[in-house]
Amino acid sequence: MKRIIFEILLVLGLGGAGAFGFVTFQKEKASTTQLAQLTEQTEGSGKKLEELTAELEKAQKEVPPLQSKALQLEALREALVNGEALRDLEAAYKKEKTLSPERLAGLGALRLLTKGGDDPATVEAFQKALNASDWGSRRNLICASQKALASAGQDVKVLSECLPTGVSKMPLADEGKAVKSEKPVKVEKSDKDSHADKDAHGDQAKDGEDSKPGEKDAKKAPHWDYEGEMGPENWGKEFAMCGRGRSQSPVDIRTPFEKTKASVVAAYQNGPLRIINNGHTIQVNVAEGSKLRVDSLPYDLVQFHFHRPSEELVDGKPQAMVVHFVHKNKEGKLAVLGVLLKEGNENPGIKQLWEHAPKKKGPEVAVDGVKFNPANLLPREMEFWSYDGSLTTPPCTEGVKFFILKTPVNISREQVEQFPFKKNARPVQPLNNRQISAS
Ligand SMILES: [Zn+2]
Repeated sequence: MKRIIFEILLVLGLGGAGAFGFVTFQKEKASTTQLAQLTEQTEGSGKKLEELTAELEKAQKEVPPLQSKALQLEALREALVNGEALRDLEAAYKKEKTLSPERLAGLGALRLLTKGGDDPATVEAFQKALNASDWGSRRNLICASQKALASAGQDVKVLSECLPTGVSKMPLADEGKAVKSEKPVKVEKSDKDSHADKDAHGDQAKDGEDSKPGEKDAKKAPHWDYEGEMGPENWGKEFAMCGRGRSQSPVDIRTPFEKTKASVVAAYQNGPLRIINNGHTIQVNVAEGSKLRVDSLPYDLVQFHFHRPSEELVDGKPQAMVVHFVHKNKEGKLAVLGVLLKEGNENPGIKQLWEHAPKKKGPEVAVDGVKFNPANLLPREMEFWSYDGSLTTPPCTEGVKFFILKTPVNISREQVEQFPFKKNARPVQPLNNRQISAS
């Protein structure tokens, strides 16, 4: 059975690798023999697809511990069944005569996995790496396989973008992006696994503010935007989960609601003001100590940031803006508290923030002698709507709990206009089978 699962992983891996190569290849010299081998293998994999699909179904029934992984694979399998991934791959090989040595190393790693498939240590390491990675990104699939091979003792060149880049990266995705931190204590060392942070830090890496010399590839990390070619409707091309996810955020909040008894309590405290314009939003990175309690389970407030207009709609209508408070618990689970900002009187908390918010994209600013309490941005009432969603920015990772407060707070029209982004809101996403709860 292990072997079967492994083959499925391999086919998926090849598909992913091809797609990955397709979007990120570089025109550098490479061995044509290797390419030929890869193409051959890919064709072989393509033929076996039907067979493997059946095996996957069987595997789902027979191997309960692998069930959730199998479900994740299902999403990727779909891309293969409808030919998307294979077409990508074929197109990549047809159009391009050469792939960069690094890309080849990535593909080569997957090839090595074929041979190493009987070695339980390799399989186990691969599974482990996959479990720890975000399947929403094709790059992570490659990173996972490379790391698995490396940790199983194989001589594998690991892509530079797969290498841990030190503690200056938060293991959170974009919503949870904490950017360069002077106090990297909150960064979990366990982030040695291929996590999605690199994707999420695409722009940041470009800034070079926390990239190391020689991290050439990191600087080519995928870019995204709120309009144009890299706008939300195209995020799925680079970040699979944004296009394929079934529990995406934001959503249009409307009845019917399910009554919930859950409680949400924000215990935020005063702390030094660290604020950044990261090119997508204004974000305040928060020092340790502020917490959100969801049914008395603590989540640490990591950062908060703004969207204009509000990403969430209520009965189809947006508010002027929204602030997202991003929290993370000990297990690494994310919870976002959303506070809608409604046009009205001036907001003194916002006033203080806007005074220090950089107009242009750049590094984090630690404002000397200024403290800020995030509680200043909360309404008195903590009644909320809640649902299970995702990061609203690439890589759109799911499994994020959302709590949107029913009571908005004021922001003046001038303050809205002072926000340096005219529009930085992802459109609402289908609810699919989800249920919105109301307190
Ligand atoms: Zn947000």
